[in-house]
This record gives sequence, structure tokens and C-alpha cells, in this order.
Amino acid sequence: MSNFVYMFNEGRADMRSLLGGKGANLAEMTNIGLPVPFGMTITTQACKEYYQSQRSFPAGLKEEILEKLAFVEAKTGKKLGDIANPLLVSVRSGAVFSMPGMMDTILNLGLNEQTVQSLARNTSNLRFAYDSYRRFIQMFSDVVLEIPKHEFEYLLNEQKEDIGVVYDQELTVEALRSLIDKYKELVRSQIERPFPEDPIEQLFMAIEAVFRSWNNHRAIVYRNLNKINHDLGTAVNIQSMVFGNMGNDSGTGVAFSRNPSTGENIIYGEYLMNAQGEDVVAGIRTPQPIAQLQEDMPDIYDQFVRTVHILENHYRNMQDIEFTIEKGKLYLLQCRNGKRTAQAAVKIAHDMVSENLISKQEALLMVEPGQLDQLLHRQIDSSAKLSVIAKGLPASPGAASGQVVFDADSAERIAKTGCKVLMVRMETTPDDIHGIIAAQGVLTSRGGMTSHAAVVARGMGKPCVCGCETIKIDYTNQEFTIGSTTVKVGDLISIDGSTGRVILGEVPMKDPELSTEYTHLLSWADEFKTLAVRANADTPEDAAKARAFGATGIGLTRTEHMFMGSDRLPHVQQMILAETQEERQQALACLLPIQENDFYGILKEMEGLPVCIRLLDPPLHEFLPNLEGLVVETTKLRTSGENPAQLAEQESLLKKVRQLHEFNPMLGHRGCRLGITFPEIYEMQIRAIFNATAHLTKEGYTILPEVEIPLTIDKEELAFFQKRIAAIAEEVTKDFGVEFHYCIGTMIETPRAALLADELAEFSDFFSFGTNDLTQTCMGFSRDDAEGKFLPPYLEYKILKENPFIALDRKGVGELMKIAVERGRKTKPNLITGICGEHGGEPSSIDFCHHLGLDFVSCSPYRVPIARLAAAQAAVSQGESLGTR
Ligand code: PEP
Ligand code: MG
Repeated sequence: MSNFVYMFNEGRADMRSLLGGKGANLAEMTNIGLPVPFGMTITTQACKEYYQSQRSFPAGLKEEILEKLAFVEAKTGKKLGDIANPLLVSVRSGAVFSMPGMMDTILNLGLNEQTVQSLARNTSNLRFAYDSYRRFIQMFSDVVLEIPKHEFEYLLNEQKEDIGVVYDQELTVEALRSLIDKYKELVRSQIERPFPEDPIEQLFMAIEAVFRSWNNHRAIVYRNLNKINHDLGTAVNIQSMVFGNMGNDSGTGVAFSRNPSTGENIIYGEYLMNAQGEDVVAGIRTPQPIAQLQEDMPDIYDQFVRTVHILENHYRNMQDIEFTIEKGKLYLLQCRNGKRTAQAAVKIAHDMVSENLISKQEALLMVEPGQLDQLLHRQIDSSAKLSVIAKGLPASPGAASGQVVFDADSAERIAKTGCKVLMVRMETTPDDIHGIIAAQGVLTSRGGMTSHAAVVARGMGKPCVCGCETIKIDYTNQEFTIGSTTVKVGDLISIDGSTGRVILGEVPMKDPELSTEYTHLLSWADEFKTLAVRANADTPEDAAKARAFGATGIGLTRTEHMFMGSDRLPHVQQMILAETQEERQQALACLLPIQENDFYGILKEMEGLPVCIRLLDPPLHEFLPNLEGLVVETTKLRTSGENPAQLAEQESLLKKVRQLHEFNPMLGHRGCRLGITFPEIYEMQIRAIFNATAHLTKEGYTILPEVEIPLTIDKEELAFFQKRIAAIAEEVTKDFGVEFHYCIGTMIETPRAALLADELAEFSDFFSFGTNDLTQTCMGFSRDDAEGKFLPPYLEYKILKENPFIALDRKGVGELMKIAVERGRKTKPNLITGICGEHGGEPSSIDFCHHLGLDFVSCSPYRVPIARLAAAQAAVSQGESLGTR
């Protein structure tokens, strides 16, 4: 029989796939002797089997729960449902990968009409007992019985009004008793049976509700966003209750062992006295900073600080800790590796190496490469004049501007139209997740740094300002006010999540300043990585940016972008429309100095580093006006009869565009096929590259150009170009009287090229995998159409696990790459191999390229730091595949 239930003293931290993150850590904390209220964990396997057996408990599960419950009861000296000394428990979800707030929790389970009296007797506090009972009924009814929360809120507010009080804490014993009766009446009317009184029945119903909550809407959205497998299931933790709401010597809080926003090594947290469970994270009351605890309860504070250090040293990572103080005694309810901003992630990883807590390799593995993106984006220009209207808590750094919206559905709807929105809420709940995804940032008027909005925004790397209490939100009129200023829905505002500022209008931004911790961490990445990281850059400015971000070469210069500017497009069009070779040569002669100048700039920026320049690739019609527009214009001219000369010109253009029209241009007249049909175009480009190289060499620079032939399918294509390239190199050498170095290679973008790599390598110094096209040609998916048309259902039905245009398809495209590398190197052992498709900047694909033994990855300049870190992680993680879950 499988083991579905583990008591806390039976588990370990490394059992997280079975016990979930929370269960594994509760077990670990129990085993290192920390004060954890005792309990047990039902495994994720039980949840999976619950779903496999059409939502029923797997055989043996109930018996095992009861058996282990008896141990928990023995250990705590209390018994579920016992009249003298009742055990009360919390029932909480606990997934393998943390999904904060996405699933359900029930507190105070075990209360009924009898045990509530025992609780009152044992604590000498009838008010506390009734308050706990009414909270339990409310929570259980919402989560388990699925009766809407607001029905209970309505009764609660009515009760407060009846006795003329404002706050929940002011409800009297009698008022609470009457409220409990009203709650029960509501339940009976909704489910046509009384509220369950039997604690064992309550327990089984609650466990099932937690299993069900794995598949609630917000949990599914969260998993999709974070690429968490939907089949993992959740564990369920059943833990004996401790109470933070037993009076003013009790409380509950959440803390991080270091600041999760900046990374500063100071315990960072918040707590509320006389409060229970979710009150702190729910963001309903703004809590006290943890430093205040030192004054309120100095002994508890000292014990807490010691415990935090024990946990950080034990886990060698920044910890997120939930605690409760019950009548002056500290308990730990949960710990896990804390979510943090990119800035904090880098600082913490760096500082922990300086503190000799972790190695450089561990530090490199501690930062998610994709997170670095947040650091490289623009920030508010400090020299700009800003109209700051309010200040809240700086909950997640970065700046964002957008139109104000007041609810998640509007955020999603308006963002879909292409507008940037900022979501403004009193507080957010897990049901708002789709709005946070759609918004540029979040502003809340309530809640602390650990409120839902803050935690989720940080996780997504979005700016967030929370607890901005000076703004008064009016949902009905769709506006908020600060003093005499009113901001209406649709108005533009900006937030600065690094300082907490709320600013009227849009703000000017500037390039970010990178910390020394960042520079150190990335220099460690360079120490360990074996893949070189190059950049895709088409201009000297991009090349300079790439170099500044740490690129050690250019992996792809797309020369077609140089054909587009207004000073060159007319020559390009003239070249395409030319009727004779002379006409074409004339146009090319005009383009030559322009191209030469382009290459001069890029090669100079990258002095001493390889620069791979691809000869013209896209179909020529891309440089001409579009067919539909031309037909309309020509028809207009023809019917007006006013300008016969212009009409003749238009008609000849139309004829040419029709000639060039293709049914399937991506598989048509493009790539090196262009160079074969119009050799003079490639010859002009090759000459421009070599002229620029010779020029710079003469000026004393070390220039390393690589001439790249796109979309090949056969070695004879390469043989065709090789002769011409050699001849032009010789001519340029003579013209300039200077020798220079160059090499020739090809892109591998078709399955045939990959399969015939041994032959292609006879004519190539390097291969660069153009995995955008290779994915298209391998899968038969048009790269221009797939994502907008049929890929979404492929992903939804899990026919494909990931979008192959984002994460490399290892089984198909990856296999072709493997074959090409092996066959190519058989012919030429020192063949250089790299990747320059979009996958070259995607961490899990970089991991694959590392294990394939490529020499370089190439990606856009802003992704270079991400690629450096991902390449280092691939090297230090010793074969473990990162980035896939
Ligand atoms: C590729 O196909 O992967 C590539 C880099 O070339 P492009 O995207 O320009 O076709
Ligand atoms: Mg391509």
C-alpha cells in the first residue's frame, strides 16, 4: 500500500515533490528542533490519484489519515472533537512550486457547538472562542461549501450596524453568538442541510476542497504564467492550530530574512497583534514593521532573529517565514525560499558569497536568468520634473505608466486593445491575477509589502506601489482622489515601485544604472561558462550596447535592415526593378559605399571580436510597395486619366510586384537563392564587407569578419559563393594593399542542410543555427502564422508542451542540430558552431546548446546578460537541465 500521509517528523526538505514545498519545509523545521505546531502532510500523489479516480479519495487514504491523526493527537495531547480538550487544525494546500494565495486554506477546523465551549473554557475567553467559530464557519462555507463570501460579509456588517460598532473586534459575545446562528441559518438555506458538526466529516470535506482548489481558475492561470506542470497536484498540510488572536500578547506575522525588494541584509517583515492567519497577507489591515516587535516583545524578537538566522544558514537561501505568537510563545508556521526582485536576487546571491555562506556556483544558480531583464530596463529619469501626487510603499521596483483602471477584467480588456494600463485597487486578491498580468504595474491603497499585490507583482517583475493610504478610491464613480486632485478611469499616471511615488501623467525614462553586485555576479558567470555569448546587432549603436552588456562577438548582422532607410530604399527598389544588368549595376554602385559605411561602423565597434555578417536573406518583394495598395492606386490613376506618365510608372511597378509575388514567400525566392539568381547583389555586399575590413585593418584595428550564407540546402551553393568570395577578397587586398583575415560559413536553417552537414562543412568554417527558420522548416509551421492561428490550441491541449518558437523543440529541431554538429565536426573537427535564432537568448534552450557542445549563442543585446548567466548555470549545474519543469 502506498504511503499517502507523513507526519512532520517523518519528512525532509528534499521530499518536496511528494510533500509539496510547505510540507517538506515544515518537516525539515520540525527535525531541526524549531517550534513548529505538530501535524501531518497528505502527499501530492494522493491528490493525483484523487483526480485519476474521478475525484474520489484513493483507497486507503481515509484510513491512513485517521491512523496518523491519532499520532498527532497523542503528540499534542488533544483530540479532534474531544469535549474536554479539543484539537483544532488548519488545513492548507502546499504545491511543489510555491503558488502564493492561489489555493485554499481553512483555519480552526474541529470547532462545533460543543468544542467551541471547551475552547472558551480552556482559554477563559468566550469572546475569542465565538470569534474563532464564526471565522471558521465563514471560511469553511466559502472554500468547502462554495457559498459566496459576500453573503457572510453582509451578515457581519449588518450585525455591526445593529449594535452600532465599526470594527470586528468590537463585536460583543452576544453579537457573535447571534452572528453564528445567522451564519448557520444561511448555510442551511443554501445547502439544504445543517452546517457539518462532526469534526472528522469537516476534515475530510476540507481535504477534498483543497484537492479541488488545485484546479480553480486562479491556480490554473498562475500555473500557465509560471510554466508549472498542471499534473503535479497539491499536498495538503494538516497542522494543529496556534492562535495569534488570543489577546494582546498574541499576534501573527510574515518576515523575510533579507529585504525582498532591495536585497539588503536586514530582517524584513510585518506583523499584526491579536490577529489570525491570513490577516497579514490579505492586505486588509496595514501591519506593523517587524522592528516594532523589538519594542513590543523584546524576548520574542530576539528568539525570532535567532531562528531566522538558523533557517537562513540551514537552507543557504533567503527565507520567507510565517510565524504566530500565542500568549507570548513563538511558533513557526511555514518557511520557504523567499520570492525577490531581480535587484534583491543579485544582491543576496552576491552578499552570501561575501559572507562565505554559499559558493560562487551556488550564487549563480540562485538568480533566475530571465529576472535580469528587470534590471536592464529603463527607469524614471531623475532629472525630469515630476508631478508627484502621493507616496506609498515601494513594493516592487521599476517604473510604469498607463491608463488608470479599477478592476482586473477592465485591465485585461483594455490591455488587449494595445493600451498600457495601471491597475489601481484598494487591495488585490488572487482573483485579480489576470489583471496584474495585463497591467504595466499595480497601485493599492491598502496592504503592506507582503500583501498579495506586492508578492505577485514582485514575482512577475512588475512595478508595484502598495499601502498608498492617501489615495481614496471610489469604485462606483471610477476615480480616486488625493486631497483636491481627482484621477479618473482612463487618466494617465505613473508609479515608481523603487521609491513608492505616484506621479500624474507619463514620465520620461532613462537607461538603468547597474550595481557592482551585478557586475561581480556576471563576471563569475563568465568564469564558469564555456559557451561564448554573442549578440544579434545590425547597427553600430546596437553593437556598442551588446559589447557593453558583455557580448564577445556578433553572431548575426541581418543586412536587410540596412536596405530600409530612406537614403537607400530608392536604390534598392531601382536595383530590384532594373530591366538590364547595367541598370542593376548602377543601383548597386550607389548602395556599395552606403553598405561599406554600415559595416565600417559595426566592425570598428567590435574590434578584436568576430562579427558574423549575413548576406541578403528576405524575399525582394519586402522592399517594394504592397500589392493591394498598388492595385488601388493604379486603378485610381487609370480612372482619373489625369497623369499618364505617372500611370505608366505605376503600371510597370505593379507588373514587377506581380512578377515577384509568391504564394509561399518563406519557402520561396529568398536566402542564398537570391544570391544565385542575382549574384551581383551578394558581390556588392561582400565587397562592402571587405572594403570596410581593409580600411580598418589599414587604420590599425584587428577586424574579424565572418561572411555568412543563409538558407543553404547543398554544398554546391557554398561552392558557388566560395569562389566569388575568394576572388573579391583578392581584389580588395590588391586595391588596399593590405592583407586581412576572414572566414566563410553558413546558416543551418533547413533539415537538408542539417542532414548534409558533413558535406556543407567542406566549404564552411562555421555553422550558425538559424533556429527560427529551422523550427519552421522542421515542423512545417509557418513562423508568421503559427502563433496567431493554431499554436494556442496546441499548447492548451498540451499537444506541444511549449511554443517551439520560444523554447527550442529538442526532440525535432534539437535532434537536427545534434546531427549537424556531429556530421559537421566529422568533416572539420575545428568547425565553429553557434545559434542565432531567438532561442539563443532563452535560458532552457541555452542549456540545451551547452550540452550539445556549441561554441556560441547569439541573442539581442538586452538578452546578453541573461544568456551569460544561463550559460554559466548550464555549466555549473552538471547535467541537470534547468528551465524546464
Ligand atoms: C533564423 O532563421 O533563426 C534567423 C536567425 O534568421 P531570420 O530570423 O532572420 O530568418
Ligand atoms: Mg532565418
